[in-house]
Amino acid sequence: MRKKIVAGNWKCNTTVQEGVELAKSVSELVAKSGVKNVVVVLGTPFTHITSVVNTVDTKLVGVAAQNCAAEAKGAFTGEVSATMVKSTGAEYVILGHSERREYYGETSETLNKKVTLALANGLTPIYCCGEALSIREANEQNTYVKNQLDETIFNLSAEDFSKLAIAYEPIWAIGTGVTASTAQAQEMLAYIRGLIADKFGKVVAEETSILYGGSCNAKNAPELFSQPDIDGGLIGGASLKAEDFLGIITAY
Ligand code: PEP
Repeated sequence: MRKKIVAGNWKCNTTVQEGVELAKSVSELVAKSGVKNVVVVLGTPFTHITSVVNTVDTKLVGVAAQNCAAEAKGAFTGEVSATMVKSTGAEYVILGHSERREYYGETSETLNKKVTLALANGLTPIYCCGEALSIREANEQNTYVKNQLDETIFNLSAEDFSKLAIAYEPIWAIGTGVTASTAQAQEMLAYIRGLIADKFGKVVAEETSILYGGSCNAKNAPELFSQPDIDGGLIGGASLKAEDFLGIITAY
């Protein structure tokens, strides 16, 4: 059975000390709650990863980087490679977030390299896709998301593809307080699962965890997570407070 995943994306927030406190609280709350059916992941800034890995109970809470370099190593000042991320003890890497595509010019070509390097280093990519508001308003979201997938992770072998998770995050819902309706989210995730089935077969499609992201919180998570194709969430703002994040983790 495919995994339910609730992954926090802290973005560019918290000092190392604040991040460690937050991670400690999440880990303790998850332990206390007894939640066993959900994979909990904290997507921290690079600077925090090692400290967070050393803080949490790693049997209960996994750690993700929010990016990795498109090159394996070498003269790329300021970059952090997938090998380096792996060496921190992180198990996941968020790739293709719309903020990285929009503000840092990440292209499908770059993402292809990043996903490939992440997989080669034994990291689980949480690959993000999703359309802008203008595309949704033109009712072209399916074609848009299909192109994003075709140009990046659909180039992988079935074996590699089966190691990653996908997060559908409509840009108009990220950090806006406007959540996609449950029907919109379910419809898109079912569509993505159908595309995976066409490309890699039904078994792979059934085993792929597909998350929803975009203003997901403890209030709307139970309804979103009740849908057959929504396997959890990628959570921005609501992952910065341990109690709020726990409310989402326990929404199943
Ligand atoms: C995100 O950035 O991945 C995200 C989903 O943010 P938020 O939950 O704040 O909308």
